[in-house]
Amino acid sequence: MRITIEKPGYVSVECDAPLPCPFCGGAAELRQLAHTTTSRKVGKKWETVRVCIFAASTPLSSDTFWFACCQCNATTGKHCDTAQGAVEFWNRRHAASSAEGQVP
Ligand SMILES: [Zn+2]
Repeated sequence: MRITIEKPGYVSVECDAPLPCPFCGGAAELRQLAHTTTSRKVGKKWETVRVCIFAASTPLSSDTFWFACCQCNATTGKHCDTAQGAVEFWNRRHAASSAEGQVP
C-alpha cells in the first residue's frame, strides 16, 4: 500500500506504508532532512562541506530519510536517499527480527 507523508516544511513524499515497530508495535514515523553544500574555511583552504538545512522559506526537498518508532525511538539505523528506500529498510528489519524472534 502506498501512502503520502506530509510534514510541515517539507515536500510531501510517497512511499510504501511502514510496518509497526518490530520492538514495541508502535507507529513508524518518517524522519527527514534536507542538505545543501556550502564553503567553509578549513585551515587555509576552502572546502565544500555538506550541511543540513534547518529553515527555509520554501518547502524543503529532503535527501536523507529514515524511519523511527514514535514510542520507543527505534530507528532504521540507516539513512536513505529516498523515503521509499527508508521504508524498505525499515520493513526488511521488521521481517528479519520477527523471523529470528529477537528481543531488544
Ligand atoms: Zn517501538
